[in-house]
Amino acid sequence: MDLLNIIKDAGIIGAGGAGFPTHAKLTSKAEYILLNGAECEPLLRVDQQLMAQFPDEIIRGLEATGRYIEARKAIIGIKGKHKEVVVLLRERIAALGLANYMEVMELRDMYPAGDEQVLVHELTKRVVPEASIPLKVGCVVINSETALNIYHAMAGKPVTETYLTVAGDIPHRMTVKVPVGVAIRDVFRQCGVENLDDYAVIDGGPMMGSVMNNVDGYVTKKNKGYVLLKKDHFLIRKKSMGIEQARVIGKTACEQCRMCTDLCPRYLLGHNIQPHKLMRAINYNLEDLNELKIAQLCCECNACELFSCPANLHPKSVNIFYKKKLAEQGIRYQPTQVEFHPRAAREYRLIPSKRLVAKIGLKTFDKPAPMTEVEFQPETIRIALRQHIGAPAIPVVAVGDQVKAGQLIGKIPDNSLGAAVHASLNGTVVECTDNFIEIKVGSYV
Ligand code: SF4
Ligand code: SF4
Repeated sequence: MDLLNIIKDAGIIGAGGAGFPTHAKLTSKAEYILLNGAECEPLLRVDQQLMAQFPDEIIRGLEATGRYIEARKAIIGIKGKHKEVVVLLRERIAALGLANYMEVMELRDMYPAGDEQVLVHELTKRVVPEASIPLKVGCVVINSETALNIYHAMAGKPVTETYLTVAGDIPHRMTVKVPVGVAIRDVFRQCGVENLDDYAVIDGGPMMGSVMNNVDGYVTKKNKGYVLLKKDHFLIRKKSMGIEQARVIGKTACEQCRMCTDLCPRYLLGHNIQPHKLMRAINYNLEDLNELKIAQLCCECNACELFSCPANLHPKSVNIFYKKKLAEQGIRYQPTQVEFHPRAAREYRLIPSKRLVAKIGLKTFDKPAPMTEVEFQPETIRIALRQHIGAPAIPVVAVGDQVKAGQLIGKIPDNSLGAAVHASLNGTVVECTDNFIEIKVGSYV
């Protein structure tokens, strides 16, 4: 079987958080294969530790993927501050005889170094055009955990586990390997947090993650971490504000200083996104949606809202508001340029991660979250049929069936973008809906 089908059968999706089915990224040839090991979300510590623990596996997974798409070069992007991991990766690349094919490039400690388009520019000096993808400039990007999953898939092991950092205002920050489908509350319990009454939980990193309304869900393949903060923390209050309240405040306080635009990572790459214009539009009820199509160029990195704006306003939320309106009306931004170049001021306007962490009130919690062995022994697991971008998987098991860890339980619908789903532990199917398969964990006989 070729690598694309191995990856497809193993249910591999982008482990960086977006959940795009990986096989669908590999249908075209590209000049570069890039490994995104930037992990720029504050407090999350998954990729840096995976690269330290499994360098050979990640290198081999990246190499195989690069050879498959006929890339002439593979580049690992990792922040230079992880000095020991950088040295280790270089040593292992040389020891594996791949020095002519693969190199490690050190990224600056800035936000959002892991944004796919920022990463492409930092590693290749190319700029992905507006509303486009890295392939347009000859690059395919995969995340470190994705490369590890590809290595395991080549050995016949599908994706049944994910690595998560549990961090924030808690006594024991840690990074753990969790079987897909375990209750999120179980993960917190294992990390020593029994009572969540005082906490709000951010699903993902503190910048791009959102505050969870309900923590009674189950872990999926694309989860990367949870940040637990007290309910009155600045980030929780800011992220919990609705668009109407944000609009009222913005109307009185936006001084059109342009800082949200001038520090926007996508604007600095030469794109036309200008959040200050969207703030102006919402404040003065300028309703010409054709003028507002630039909102679609926003990657929702949240830099404008959590770092740049001196008045602590909500330009990213306003972007999202207009994105939704445009989608409802089927309006799409059409680029007028083909080539893009970073703006001259870019080098002076990058956002240092340390300053960002301080600005968003996380300095006290910016501590290690060491990889910790935890044995999960849940009574039941619930495996979502949509853990990815695309159509939900179709169950191939029924109530009463016994399933084995690693067994296919949901397949990709015909002619659709999607990802296969596998049982993460042995047991018996006790419920099967259009949204999930629940398994009572037990021995397989
Ligand atoms: S940075 Fe804040 S105050 Fe300045 S234009 Fe943007 S939203 Fe308005
Ligand atoms: S969230 Fe703000 S800073 Fe980030 S891309 Fe969108 S407009 Fe730019």
